[in-house]
Amino acid sequence: MNIYLPTLIYSEKDCVMKRGNILASTGKKAMIVTGKHSSKANGSLQAVVDAFEKAGKPYVIFDDIEENPSVETVMRARDIGVKEQVDFVVGVGGGSPLDACKAISLMIANPLVGAEVLYENVMLPYLPVVTVPTTAGTGSEVTPYAILTLHQNKTKKSISHKIYPVMALVDYTYLKTQSENVLINTVVDALAHLIESYLNTNANDLNRMYSEQGLRMFSQVKDSLRKPDDSVYKTLSNIAMIAGMAIAHTGTSLPHGLSYSVTYELGVPHGKAVGIYLGGYLKLYQNKEESKRVLDFMGFDDYDGFSAYLKELLGDVQIPEELVKRNAAQIFENKAKLKNYPYDVTKDQLEKLLG
Ligand code: NAP
Ligand code: ZN
Repeated sequence: MNIYLPTLIYSEKDCVMKRGNILASTGKKAMIVTGKHSSKANGSLQAVVDAFEKAGKPYVIFDDIEENPSVETVMRARDIGVKEQVDFVVGVGGGSPLDACKAISLMIANPLVGAEVLYENVMLPYLPVVTVPTTAGTGSEVTPYAILTLHQNKTKKSISHKIYPVMALVDYTYLKTQSENVLINTVVDALAHLIESYLNTNANDLNRMYSEQGLRMFSQVKDSLRKPDDSVYKTLSNIAMIAGMAIAHTGTSLPHGLSYSVTYELGVPHGKAVGIYLGGYLKLYQNKEESKRVLDFMGFDDYDGFSAYLKELLGDVQIPEELVKRNAAQIFENKAKLKNYPYDVTKDQLEKLLG
């Protein structure tokens, strides 16, 4: 039973400003990695820039990370980072810029190698990574994972390297500019992390404490997602971070495995693509005592109540029959994708996870 969580976390309002001196002292020159728009609108990018300006520390901004970032974008940022001689990377935004920034840190530290090393099992150095999340979903601010779009494989895949951020600056006020859809999709992602970590081959009494706590916190806010106030935003940001701590120890399971083609092929946002499988996943465990505990922590009486809640939140998502079957068949053939589900599963059960 091992716990490893090396990220220094500050979770508080204005923490980028308050901890700006620690942020700026992470290295000599930073690359700030962010998305195209939202970090400018919610103040997170400006807060990071202000910290560097105040400390007189040089930095360069790469603000071209797309949703579900691609290997190609990572390589474009690497070229700039190498040219600018940066020695640490700060990711600002949702899971997409945060994941991209981990991969960029690895590629800058290894300027002579090609993108294929992202998916090779070799030990390589990487630059220190600091994360400033602006969604309450992926938990990427504390996880070692980075999921990139691999256009050549027509899907998304986690890179082989585990890159824990050295520091996470988590300010819930950045969440306030989210649209209702972004908030709901990302919160459902965090919920999926909590459930898939609790119901997981790698789960044990010690690491389940993260999920249990996160699910109990979720029960307090689950009916306020369409009318969040400050206290809800604060709770959501901590739920997502705790959910990240949970999957950092166990990984995710079948809903995440099944979601990637749905996102790649249909453009369904990550949290929504995972959420459509979540009710079915919990039901797979209905004869096991631990799934009743999950329902109980969340404050649901039964499986149908939970599925109905998700359906109301996410709306109808139409997945063509052909994709449902192909996706189930591909996951069924891929032992790595099945290994975090501790029991035998049939292709038919995988197809029916959609409900
Ligand atoms: P995202 O792809 O980072 O962002 C989705 C959208 O939300 C973008 O349009 C973004 O705008 C916008 N946005 C972000 N913060 C906002 C804010 N505060 N206000 C308004 N709009 C905001 O979404 P995400 O769900 O956080 O991340 C999904 C990615 O993370 C996927 O690639 C997924 O595979 C990955 N993921 C990683 C882990 C992990 O452990 N590392 C776990 C689960 C998922 P801009 O583009 O303008 O910024
Ligand atoms: Zn996820």
